[in-house]
Amino acid sequence: MRAMILSAPQTQLQKVDIPAPNFGPDQVLLRVLACGVCRTDLHLVDGELPDPKLPIIPGHEIVGRVAGKGERVERFQLGDRVGVPWLGFTCGKCGYCTQGRENLCDFARFTGYHIDGGYAEYTVADQAFCFPLPESYDDASAAPLPCAGLIGYRSLVMTGDARRLGIYGFGAAAHIIAQVACFQGRQVYAFTRVGDVEGQQFARQLGAVWAGDSETLPPDELDAAILYAPVGKLVPTALRALARGGIVVCAGIHMSDIPSFPYHILWGERSVRSVANLTRRDGEEFLALAPRVPAKTNVEAFPVDQANEALNRLRAGKIRGAAVLTMS
Ligand SMILES: [Zn+2]
Ligand SMILES: [Zn+2]
Repeated sequence: MRAMILSAPQTQLQKVDIPAPNFGPDQVLLRVLACGVCRTDLHLVDGELPDPKLPIIPGHEIVGRVAGKGERVERFQLGDRVGVPWLGFTCGKCGYCTQGRENLCDFARFTGYHIDGGYAEYTVADQAFCFPLPESYDDASAAPLPCAGLIGYRSLVMTGDARRLGIYGFGAAAHIIAQVACFQGRQVYAFTRVGDVEGQQFARQLGAVWAGDSETLPPDELDAAILYAPVGKLVPTALRALARGGIVVCAGIHMSDIPSFPYHILWGERSVRSVANLTRRDGEEFLALAPRVPAKTNVEAFPVDQANEALNRLRAGKIRGAAVLTMS
């Protein structure tokens, strides 16, 4: 099969021809139909995540069709279309797993990081960590759902019933979650890179009541802010935009250092927290909700062997919505 492989951090992905993977008794072999390109993939390629399996096939927003299955697989049939997310394995036994917090499992393994992912013609996944995908989405449109949608949803839930919601970094997750937030009756304030007028216009089209530069204070105090941009200096910026009791949710896996800030911008029962990974329950909830909104995805498609170009465009902030690799 054709695949794009990362051999070492801070190098380009290489196009290779390798045998399709073998699968175990609880696994499905998937013919990849589409695979989203996530900011986490950029952190992996740039060497910002510790101890990846190397070489690795990146990609954890996989839309695939079941092309083979192990003897114990009962959830899916040959030909079913399934989604594969970032969470690829949990132990089921540690304190986190038994308390419904499998996203924090001591022994968790992640797709496209510890387990080969979807930048390839075929991939293998454990049946227990695959999801059926809503039928109203075509293959490319469904690809951002398993991570941008799912982690976005988990971060939105962390904001509780916040009415005025700031979203910093208007990329793949934000463009989906803004629609969900509007559907829930919240008011979205979108913050983009300085001067990204097109991005601000895109946010308004998706229902944002206000859009501006991340360095600008919004016209109203926010009840919560979600940071999708991996930029630590936005933490104090977002805190300054919050009403008392508000929360800043950092949704990325990696962020540049957070500069020190005066205590008074945290005072007033404001809080800062991170969101890590996802649980399978998040997946079930979000994938049931997304078609009801309906949350539309805006995708820019690339053939799989142009994965490096897709990553470069994402790094440069040139993707409107989500980048998706397709298999021809
Ligand atoms: Zn565990
Ligand atoms: Zn991701």
